[in-house]
Amino acid sequence: MLNHKVRPNNPTPGQWDDSKISLQYIASYKPFNFVDGEGVRCSLYVSGCLFNCPGCYNRAAQNFHYGRPYTKKLEDRIIRDLSKPYVQGLTLLGGEPFLNTQVCLRICRRVRKEFGHKKDIWSWTGFTWEELMKESYDKLELLSMLDILVDGRFEQDKKDLTLQFRGSSNQRIIDVQKSLKANHVVIWDKLVH
Ligand code: SF4
Repeated sequence: MLNHKVRPNNPTPGQWDDSKISLQYIASYKPFNFVDGEGVRCSLYVSGCLFNCPGCYNRAAQNFHYGRPYTKKLEDRIIRDLSKPYVQGLTLLGGEPFLNTQVCLRICRRVRKEFGHKKDIWSWTGFTWEELMKESYDKLELLSMLDILVDGRFEQDKKDLTLQFRGSSNQRIIDVQKSLKANHVVIWDKLVH
């Protein structure tokens, strides 16, 4: 019998160009949550993803037109929320942050301008680290602004609900700055499981 198992999409380097596909829409903004990374966080869910992972946790947000446009008003609110002393940082999720680089670069630049490195930035992505290394400048620039990246597609046959901050065992929690310096993936040193 033929195996019709659906797999996530695998783009070739540079195939998915943010400037052509992103509509700069936001699926959701969730301030002051405890689940999208370490500490109290403000989470920005961008709209649109092309990986189409079976079992995707946020299928509605695969649509680039889902939600509402990103605005300066929302950006100002995020900055206000982040300024609270008990907030550790910003988290980017989706959808796919690396297919919405214009929005994500805009908020990341603002966070660095307002707070320097006092607030950290985490992002989830369906791209692997190795794929991002071969990608376009906008994606590499976004990567360079992050502290932590959770990488890789969601793979249903590797699903494990006990994992810290990820859904399947192929995904990694990567210390971005150490990895860029070392030129290879360095796993977050606070990883428990
Ligand atoms: S990469 Fe994430 S948002 Fe995109 S389809 Fe896969 S699970 Fe869904």
